[in-house]
Amino acid sequence: MVSFKELGLVNTREMFKKAVDGGYAIPAFNFNNLEQLQAIVTAAAETKSPVILQVSKGARNYANQTLLRYLAEGAVAYAKELGCEYPEIVLHLDHGDTFELCKSCVDMGFSSVMIDGSSLPYEENIALTKKVVEYAHQYDVTVEAELGVLAGVEDEVSAEESHYTKPEEVIDFSKRSGCDSLAISIGTSHGAYKFKPEQCTRDPKTGKLVPPPLAFDVLHEIEKKLPGFPIVLHGSSSVPQEYVDLIDKYGGNMPNAVGIPEEQLREASKSAVCKINIDSDSRLAYTAGVRETLALHPDYFDPRQYGKVARNYMIDLYKHKIVDVLGSDNKLAK
Ligand SMILES: [Zn+2]
Repeated sequence: MVSFKELGLVNTREMFKKAVDGGYAIPAFNFNNLEQLQAIVTAAAETKSPVILQVSKGARNYANQTLLRYLAEGAVAYAKELGCEYPEIVLHLDHGDTFELCKSCVDMGFSSVMIDGSSLPYEENIALTKKVVEYAHQYDVTVEAELGVLAGVEDEVSAEESHYTKPEEVIDFSKRSGCDSLAISIGTSHGAYKFKPEQCTRDPKTGKLVPPPLAFDVLHEIEKKLPGFPIVLHGSSSVPQEYVDLIDKYGGNMPNAVGIPEEQLREASKSAVCKINIDSDSRLAYTAGVRETLALHPDYFDPRQYGKVARNYMIDLYKHKIVDVLGSDNKLAK
């Protein structure tokens, strides 16, 4: 049993309270490897932003949960080395699907876990979430739950269609489950193809897809029912066209990739939404950097040559999200 406190990590409690009160959102970035972690920590340290490092089921399968945990421990020391004396870094399990998995993460030093019972019947979702909360809270680990179903595919989480969270259920759910934050469904979606072309309109000038707007009415209804309660948005990549264009230019093929417009995420950040999950955008920046470098330099074979470019693209992306979209820069307590 290792406490996250020994690793220099923090849970989400204070961080979310400040974010809700201050009208900004904490970035939750997924990571699977060293370059992503370096980029996230560099961006957060340079902008003095709190940050949530997320580990998904796919990441655990790819990179091993234990190794990722040690990388996160290193992240705290690395942030300090970069001149950020008191970094606020959360190590979070993304989409935990069983009590046992959440328990194993709590036991190995995660400071926050998500238990995703959103595909279960309502009462079973409450019961499972409550069980995780009771265990995690003994160690001061915070718990995110989910109510409502997001469409799209992210690692091994997928659903055909979305079901918006029902505002009338949120009070009962949060009270009885005891969760610390709640992921809701208001039209965001996992992956880089968030909407089918037939769900979108086309910009007459550029011919690009324009996605349907988020259901802000549902969000505001939920805020009214649970004033000040931390709300989480999953599937909130914006799929920047510049990276899709680079990927397509250098041998890729991603027609009709579409995300959530950043103006809408900026607006959501100012509400009770205090955590915004971004994964696909980092994958796009990474892939754009690798494809471009290898296409321009067919002789390269050292992974550091293209890894460096990919990492720089990700640093730019993360900083942009922190400063221009979520507004979490310069929000460290000390
Ligand atoms: Zn998610």
